[in-house]
Amino acid sequence: MYQAERWDPLELRWRGQRYQPQTVVRQARVEAIDLVERTISWRLLGNPHVNGEHHLSALGHMVLDRGLEPEATRTYVDIRISIGDIVDFAVHDEDISALWLHVYYAHAERRSAYAQDLRMQKSDALFAARTSPGRRAEHHISESVLRPAGHVTQALHRPEKDGTFRFVIDYAVTDRRHETSDLQCELCHRVFEVKTRLRDRHRRVSHSRSRPFETENRPNNYHVFFYRHWHKYEVLSNRDIDAFIRDRQVSYGHAEVDAWADVGDLGGRKPPALELSDYRCAAHDE
Ligand SMILES: [Zn+2]
Repeated sequence: MYQAERWDPLELRWRGQRYQPQTVVRQARVEAIDLVERTISWRLLGNPHVNGEHHLSALGHMVLDRGLEPEATRTYVDIRISIGDIVDFAVHDEDISALWLHVYYAHAERRSAYAQDLRMQKSDALFAARTSPGRRAEHHISESVLRPAGHVTQALHRPEKDGTFRFVIDYAVTDRRHETSDLQCELCHRVFEVKTRLRDRHRRVSHSRSRPFETENRPNNYHVFFYRHWHKYEVLSNRDIDAFIRDRQVSYGHAEVDAWADVGDLGGRKPPALELSDYRCAAHDE
């Protein structure tokens, strides 16, 4: 169903510091991550009897994309990897030098047409690193936050029955470089935009002079902020966010092509995080 990425030696040398000609890449499923003991446990794909555990401090640094600073593998695991992810290991003499999210492809026959459409090319590895935590957060918010409030939503990317979560780039999806997709309730049609924060507590929404928050977001929809490091979330109404932006005349920030406004931090009183009763699905009311 999926086409797996092929690795060439150049690509490997680029990623792992300790590249050797004998280096091999293996795919494994992450079984456990212990951030106190700083270990990661895995089970080999295709040969599930082979498993292992590695100390994160023994892993090196990786380059995610040209022009970017190398990132410590343990930081990469800390903020981007979850149990059930499929990762690639670079193995040399039984030793692992680096690991990263494995990228699967769907509809590979449309790859060349796709590449022509892309305005800005970042590596698939970087795309996976930045996007996978957000995909997982969307599924979590859909199941654990919105469902208890009566909303029926489905994240675009979902784990398999056993919890395996493959990072797939589908060339038949034309907006593959969008980091997230909104969750829309099938019953009340409210839209929830999930914003994942990897290691800070900022509430940050898309906002620029050419695309101000108020014109891009309907007031009776919502933003959900997921703070991955703390495993916490907050639901805010777009109406409250817009009022905050107007009151404070917040400054614009930007990086690459994104522009944003900060609307406080986790736990801030303005704008207030909503209680479940404030965002429950109105479709159940008679
Ligand atoms: Zn609903």
